[in-house]
Amino acid sequence: MLDNLTQRLSGVIKNLRGQARLTESNIQDALREVRMALLEADVALPVVKDFIAQVKEAALGQEVIGNLNPGQAFIGVVHRELTKLMGEHNDALNLATTPPAVILMAGLQGAGKTTTSGKLAKLLREQQKKKVLLVSCDVYRPAAIEQLRTLAQQLEIDFFASDISQKPQDIALAAHDYAKKHYHDVLIVDTAGRLAIDAAMMEEIKQLNAALKPIETLFVVDAMTGQDAVNTAKAFGEALPLTGVILTKLDGDARGGAALSVRQITGKPIKFIGVSEKPNGLEAFHPERMASRVLG
Ligand code: GDP
Repeated sequence: MLDNLTQRLSGVIKNLRGQARLTESNIQDALREVRMALLEADVALPVVKDFIAQVKEAALGQEVIGNLNPGQAFIGVVHRELTKLMGEHNDALNLATTPPAVILMAGLQGAGKTTTSGKLAKLLREQQKKKVLLVSCDVYRPAAIEQLRTLAQQLEIDFFASDISQKPQDIALAAHDYAKKHYHDVLIVDTAGRLAIDAAMMEEIKQLNAALKPIETLFVVDAMTGQDAVNTAKAFGEALPLTGVILTKLDGDARGGAALSVRQITGKPIKFIGVSEKPNGLEAFHPERMASRVLG
């Protein structure tokens, strides 16, 4: 993870001591260090460039006021700009519709869709007292349906059974019907993933999305895949009216750059982050907290 940028900057911001203002020449080294740290963390290059330009603009001419030293003032600017880059505030899940509110989970295989569907169901039940129904539309891998069924059972979440002889759309619509009849507040639809983006898979999920009209279409992406995460997000964003992103595996040794790039590149908010394999390892994403974590 891109932890502890502050420590990394400690060397270069020493140069700022005794300066009353941040100027183009005295922040040059610090900017270079931020740029390198972001690139090493696998943040997409255009995002890095824009970000550095923003930090520079915001820093220049900043009076160093009160008992802040110039280094702290610079770090403060980086913190504010990082927060802005990631979307400023937490974007909550939108469930304001006639129940059941449908949440469609999209993403590549292995991104964490099934695990996250379970985590999200648990979180909605515990934090918002929602009655949730889980369904899998992955008709290509019986093991995937079984994985969700087992997870639902463990978490004591209602599960709508499906099998691989059915069409994904039929499964989803039947689950929707069932959820309506049984007064579920939320229906979480897990979908098939592929190892890479392919046209057939995109077509299928587009059709599912059109038939279900989910209030939330969430793109689930593995943070450990770095720049690829951003490229896949872009492809899914072009195919589907995404309403948000869930970034998984931020607990891994990911360099974390995806957290900084995804919002900028897709224009979609990161709503949740996955922070462990366990059922409670899902947290609302708070840009400000993530910025603090990055700065250490
Ligand atoms: P799917 O193919 O997209 O449905 O992916 P799965 O839900 O099967 O997840 C793939 C692997 O990633 C599993 O081993 C999960 O336990 C793991 N995983 C998912 N989310 C997280 C996370 O936030 N942190 C960690 N460490 N592992 C995760």
